[in-house]
Amino acid sequence: MPGFLSKPPPLGHHYVCTQCGTCCRWEGYVRLREDEVDTIAEFLGMPVEQFVARYTALTDDRRSLTLIERADGGCVMLTPDNRCRINPVKPFQCQGFPNTWNFPGWDELCRARLVPDEE
Ligand code: SF4
Repeated sequence: MPGFLSKPPPLGHHYVCTQCGTCCRWEGYVRLREDEVDTIAEFLGMPVEQFVARYTALTDDRRSLTLIERADGGCVMLTPDNRCRINPVKPFQCQGFPNTWNFPGWDELCRARLVPDEE
């Protein structure tokens, strides 16, 4: 849940995503900020209306759009070979995990690499 940081990276270090895809298979919202909707649609080369209709849904609290899930619960943007189809413009929620938000036990599942900040 963005905004909650259960285990911050050690001082002077940060985690680097290795695109293992594990977090992309967790069920739950991938909330989009308003500006991200246009950016992702442009990156995919489609009109915003088409992107919204094909790849998003309104969250139950009606506060934002979320990327939809595939039948297996994974994110619709996760490719069969475990890559994020929109990695260069992926949502803020995805960019922030696990350095700015994470939850208890995340590091037992996620294969992010811990590196010194200068790297
Ligand atoms: S947008 Fe990309 S990084 Fe975010 S959950 Fe979907 S596949 Fe994963």
